[in-house]
Amino acid sequence: MTEEERSRYLDFLRERRTEILQRMQDACARAGRSPEEVTLLGVSKTVGVEEVALAWQAGYRAFAENRPQELDRKLAGIEADHPEMAGVRFDMIGNLQKNKINHVIGRVGLIHSISSAQLAEAVSKRSEAHGIVSRVLLEVNVSGEESKSGFAPDEALEALDGLMGLGGISIEGLMTMAPAHDPDAARRTFSGLRELRDRMRERSGLELSTLSSGMSDDYPIAIEEGSTIVRLGRTVFSPAYEVR
Ligand SMILES: *Cc1c(COP(=O)(O)O)cnc(C)c1O
Repeated sequence: MTEEERSRYLDFLRERRTEILQRMQDACARAGRSPEEVTLLGVSKTVGVEEVALAWQAGYRAFAENRPQELDRKLAGIEADHPEMAGVRFDMIGNLQKNKINHVIGRVGLIHSISSAQLAEAVSKRSEAHGIVSRVLLEVNVSGEESKSGFAPDEALEALDGLMGLGGISIEGLMTMAPAHDPDAARRTFSGLRELRDRMRERSGLELSTLSSGMSDDYPIAIEEGSTIVRLGRTVFSPAYEVR
């Protein structure tokens, strides 16, 4: 980017961030929640290190990636060129293959995408080998769409006992993705996630305080239904994205 392009993009990021924070605050008000309960993650998977650094300048403090290789690239670029971002939080939100786990362990704030008991076991084992406990969420396919990964709700409930015994992970809550372009289905998905969390909490005694739900098209609904982390990509980073 030229200096002028950078400056224009920074203006865009700042204005859009103000708008997003306002919509988050409004959704919290409608639900009688405090805005401090909800964390905003900038999903940076489609942009480069330069855009992420500008987003940092615009006020974003936490980001998310969906591919381990891209996480490597972002962290290396930040370490090389952006000392101001030392200690920045990146979360992993995408499908995690077992042979890529080592790219992620100890380098992310939270792993949102634990989609099977096998993956939970593998992450736990690698974490223990690194001498750490990884904070994770169980990804649940609440809507039941074929295309989506994650535990079926009943499966998550059944698996929990076994997963609680794993020493290398701390299960902090649940994550889901809603069907696109269908606000009613999205709301049912987000409320279903919260209800499942309540049942799992009762059964296990775990707090499960984190609900990762809501993307660019549906985050106000997710917040109304209890989300504590919204994962926003297009609306944060893309000037072409149309806010409706
Ligand atoms: C890309 C992605 C997002 C962000 O989606 P937008 O619609 O661009 O906000 C959120 N969560 C996951 C898991 C993603 O892969």
